[in-house]
Order: sequence, then structure tokens, then C-alpha cells
Amino acid sequence: MGVPSLRKRLVAGNWKMNGSLDGNRRLLDELLAQSDVQPSAARPDAAQPNAAQPNAARPKCEVLVCAPYVYLPQLADALRESGIALGAQDVSVHAKGAYTGEVSASMLADIGCQWVIVGHSERRQYHQESSALVAAKVVAALDAGLTPIVCIGELLADREAGQAACVVQDQLEPIKALGKDVVERIVLAYEPVWAIGTGLTATPEQAQDMHGQIRAFMESDRLRILYGGSVKADNAAELFAMPDIDGALVGGASLDAREFLRIVAA
Ligand code: PEP
Repeated sequence: MGVPSLRKRLVAGNWKMNGSLDGNRRLLDELLAQSDVQPSAARPDAAQPNAAQPNAARPKCEVLVCAPYVYLPQLADALRESGIALGAQDVSVHAKGAYTGEVSASMLADIGCQWVIVGHSERRQYHQESSALVAAKVVAALDAGLTPIVCIGELLADREAGQAACVVQDQLEPIKALGKDVVERIVLAYEPVWAIGTGLTATPEQAQDMHGQIRAFMESDRLRILYGGSVKADNAAELFAMPDIDGALVGGASLDAREFLRIVAA
């Protein structure tokens, strides 16, 4: 069912709750040096969004990094015109107001984000985020001009019970209900929860099987569907060879510049 020429590969790093000003600087320096792209000289207006042009050395792959909120201005500055775009890891469903501790989509856009992860399994698991809330966050992100990367995926118990596809469809239902126009403006990330941070990866065949089912359910050849779950440099190429896998959401391996760029190049 896939029409790969319509879908540019995307590799997104998710730094999760890792980093420090010094550590980020080192990681960004390595990333920029090794990716053959250099940051432009700092410009005074830090609020300008990143250029987000595809990496000149790898024009077929879009690359982005999703960092903790507090470090987004640091990354916005460092990545400006680098060809590596910037994303956040979550967003408030609210536009503004008395929501202490929350960060709105327009604030993320304001400091240079173009992307935001929503519905990561760690948000669903530790913050009880429902699929309905995730869909509302998708709308909030799109309204502010951000592209949401919507995470879905089953638990090991669901897979062992033969329920993986049903669970994923249930998670997708409120997104699909937003309509085809919305579906074709987002990116999905299929991340089996049992493969996240565990070193276990779905086989390319398991991942392709689910991606094919997701694409059929969402009824879109244009929708990009990333795979996530212990993606590394040495398993990325075989995953990317699958017709319905359009890239990866990379957690742990995105904290190592060399490893991350080898995934980008896979
Ligand atoms: C993730 O954080 O979305 C993820 C897939 O993590 P990891 O690559 O470490 O499994």
C-alpha cells in the first residue's frame, strides 16, 4: 500500500529527561561537527524558528531533536540554520491561562520549535494521558503551527494476548476522528512499549506488519509512520528497508551523536 516517494524519511531524537547546559553543548557540537553542517553565526533574534531545511548532506532525511523544555532556547540557538529542526516532548492542551507548570503550543513555536511529541508512552503511563487528551493536544499543536509526532504502541501483555492491533487502533481512533486533513498533517510513531529503552526491538517484519495495519486503518498513503523502540545504528537500516517504515523516533541512541548520525545515514 505504501508510496514511499511521497514520504520523506524522518529521524527524530528524543532526549527525554536528560541533559545539562554543558552536556548539551558537547552533544550539539559533536552533532553539528559530525553531520557536516555548521551552525550559522549567532543572530541577535533568538526567537526566529530554525530553518528546518533537510540536512544538505542527506537531503532525503529530515532530522530533528526533542529536548526538555528548559533547554529548548539553548538548542534553538545552536541548531539555527543547521538543518536539524527542534521539537518539544509534550505540550499543554490549553492555549493560555491558569495552568501552572504547563507550556502551550504557541510558546513552543515562539522559541523556535516546529515539532512536538504527544502521547509518548511514558506520558500515557506516568501521567495517565488518555487517547482523547492526546487527540486534543494534536489539535492544540496544529493550531500553533507545530507538527505533532503522535506516539502509539502496545504493552507486552497486549501483544502476548494477541491484542496489539486492537490496542493501537483504540489509541488511533480519536486521531482518525479528527479527519483526513488532520491525519495528513501529523506524523505517527509506532513504539511498542516493550521495546522502549529495553534493548528489545520489534523485528522488521513485526514492525512492518503493524505499520501496514496502521496505514490501512488511517487510510493514508501520505501519513509518515516512524518506528520507535531501541533503534540503534546496527538495526536501523533493516527497519528502514520496510515499505511502511518512514523513519525512527530514537530515545537512548540520540544521546550519542555518532550513533544518532549513523541512524540518520542508515
Ligand atoms: C523513545 O523514547 O521514544 C524511545 C523509542 O526510546 P529508546 O530508543 O531508548 O527505546
